[in-house]
Amino acid sequence: MATLRLNGIHKRYPNGITALHGIDLSVADGELIVVVGPSGCGKSTLLRTVAGLESISDGELMINEQRVNALEPAERDIAMVFQNYALYPHMSVFDNMAYALKNRGTPKDEIRRRVTDTARLLDLAELLDRRPRHLSGGQRQRVAMGRAIVREPQVFLFDEPLSNLDAKLRVQMRLEIRRLQKRLGITSVYVTHDQVEAMTLADRLVVMNGGHVEQCGTPMMLYAQP
Ligand code: ADP
Ligand code: ADP
Repeated sequence: MATLRLNGIHKRYPNGITALHGIDLSVADGELIVVVGPSGCGKSTLLRTVAGLESISDGELMINEQRVNALEPAERDIAMVFQNYALYPHMSVFDNMAYALKNRGTPKDEIRRRVTDTARLLDLAELLDRRPRHLSGGQRQRVAMGRAIVREPQVFLFDEPLSNLDAKLRVQMRLEIRRLQKRLGITSVYVTHDQVEAMTLADRLVVMNGGHVEQCGTPMMLYAQP
């Protein structure tokens, strides 16, 4: 159960660039918001401030009505999935998925249970002993998803997670992400360049431009406009 709310979020980088000019956005429990817009419009910055990887210059970030501006990334209960997977090459699939839980001191048998359940959900159960270099692109992307899911986060952030995959896999993984997101009901913000991906996945679309939210609505609403 989680709602996410951005109230007037500004982000100014030390070099003077203002990447976000007062973003207002509410994401309902279980909703998947897709953020689109031209390169440089602030999509990555938006995700990174929500994740706590960048500080917020002004405004409020709320999870479940609690202000989380000052919380460290690890304290935010948010998981992020990137395009480059960022898997640890020297670790097995199991250890990659277990890593964050081990760091948190989760008991061993609970780690085993959660990793095994997640692996089954993602069709990775047979691959737990493999190293990332012995996996296909789609399998690696699933491991990256798995690593986020085992943490049972309140919020998922996706930063163009499929952009390194070939066209066929992209379609397959897109459907898989949609299915999983709905099944798990995890409140999500998803950034992509791909319009079809955006329309297929989004409960609501946010169109950004120059650090502002230009439009926001269901794909039907936005694309039905003349
Ligand atoms: P997008 O993800 O939509 O391509 P970004 O959030 O990466 O947009 O960038 C928004 C603006 O902020 C751009 O002008 C970019 O050059 C600038 N920017 C991004 N990251 C940094 C950074 N670490 N330091 C300074 N400026 C940055
Ligand atoms: P993308 O738009 O795909 O997120 P970029 O190539 O814009 O990727 O950015 C790559 C990295 O460089 C990011 O970590 C971003 O924060 C940083 N970055 C982008 N623009 C700037 C900038 N003007 N000054 C400093 N860092 C930047």
